[in-house]
Amino acid sequence: MAYKTTNPYTNQVEKEFANATDEELETTLATAHALYKKWRYEPLTDRKVTLHKVADLLRQRRTEYAEVMTRDMGKLIGEAEGEVDLCADICDYYADKAADFLKPQPLETDTGDAYYLKQATGVLVAVEPWNFPFYQIARVFAPNFMVGNPMILKDASICPASAQAFADAVAEAGAPKGSLTNLFISYDQVSKAIADPRVVGVCLTGSERGGASVAAEAGKALKKSTMELGGNDAFIILSDADWDELKEVAPQARLYNAGQVCTSSKRFIVMADIYDKFLEMMKAAVSQVKMGDPLDRSTTLAPMSSKAAKEKLEKQVKEAIDHGAKVYYQKEAIDSEGQFFAPMILTDIKKDNPIFNQEMFGPVVSVYKVNSEAEAIQIANDSSYGLGNTIFSSNHQHAEEVAAKIETGMSWINSGWASLPELPFGGVKNSGYGRELSQLGFNAFINEHLVYTP
Ligand code: NDP
Repeated sequence: MAYKTTNPYTNQVEKEFANATDEELETTLATAHALYKKWRYEPLTDRKVTLHKVADLLRQRRTEYAEVMTRDMGKLIGEAEGEVDLCADICDYYADKAADFLKPQPLETDTGDAYYLKQATGVLVAVEPWNFPFYQIARVFAPNFMVGNPMILKDASICPASAQAFADAVAEAGAPKGSLTNLFISYDQVSKAIADPRVVGVCLTGSERGGASVAAEAGKALKKSTMELGGNDAFIILSDADWDELKEVAPQARLYNAGQVCTSSKRFIVMADIYDKFLEMMKAAVSQVKMGDPLDRSTTLAPMSSKAAKEKLEKQVKEAIDHGAKVYYQKEAIDSEGQFFAPMILTDIKKDNPIFNQEMFGPVVSVYKVNSEAEAIQIANDSSYGLGNTIFSSNHQHAEEVAAKIETGMSWINSGWASLPELPFGGVKNSGYGRELSQLGFNAFINEHLVYTP
């Protein structure tokens, strides 16, 4: 069976899940489509109450749900609990904001009266990854539930228990059947669902390869899609950066979730006059991490999500070194069955190194030395990705000016990456298109329906 929980800390298969049949897919499509038709004529109030109940359930069972995620993909229990809290906040936010977000919008014209309605469009397919097993679902489900777009979920095959737990919580909160259906389906069945006339769109978070494939299926069927893909985010440190703040933020920006975040700071670009000091600071931070059982609250660096993820990173690091990168520091490995990658710091990555333009999804800190701000901006932009970036400087206004020059969808000033219910999330270039969260994400699968009276 393709869908199974293989605990990355023990390396044991804990549970296997049977694949969904084509009949189950058909029943799900029919149920979801009927629900879409019904929701069109129902007030928002019931869904608002239900979504708040989902938030309540998540908060009541935060540790239980966090453990499910930790067993599926290995993240630290404290980080998993934080993820459950964020999901509850996302549910509350869209439950409260939807009525306002869905208000008809007046349009200016001298020729008559015009406005547009904001209406649901129909059933969506959500293809989601393993790095934030609850949050990735919550950020597309909560807004679309309020819009009135039922959702079929195809989650990563390595975290089936998390996907099912989230969908079960939604059902338990009283959401009608078809609101969110988690299906253990194959890629072919995903393609079949996308091509089905009852489906109107698809959202995906994952790799460029997966995104390109699913976006092509959507394009073939003339379905709208949003893509949240990888990133190679720059963390630019200007000479006037506040060192105390930097020390708190920089290591976490890379090591959180064992470095497996699309917006992890993957390239630290540091002015020459503070480069050595930065390397020392990073080394001190990396040397202090404690690898171990992710359910043990004293552990600070989790195993990677799977054997395949670890092996891919090992291969990338080897290739980087073969092409001239230098290992400034690597923490000693621990003796464990778990999928641990000992965190490391790489320097001397030149443009002709294949790794220069690759996303390293794990605890590898890449550091670049630059002689000017212009060079920092040039390196940051010299990437096929364009997701997020950070600028560190004591001159806040200047940092904002630098941020505006970076070709990404998001910038954080004097802060690591962050995601909040009310802020849009998404990128440009090969990092994808469209936005999730905020009013922009809420509008992603809405019909802006013009009503005009001359
Ligand atoms: P994938 O893109 O392969 O997986 C993400 C999701 O897409 C999973 O549910 C996967 O299913 C599904 N999927 C992939 N290809 C298809 C397809 N052709 N048709 C239907 N569904 C598909 O990412 P990986 O898990 O393999 O991770 C590889 C790399 O992707 C990482 O190293 C990282 O660079 C990037 N990534 C980025 C993330 C982000 O947050 N932007 C999150 C995760 C990964 P299944 O699990 O069954 O293969």
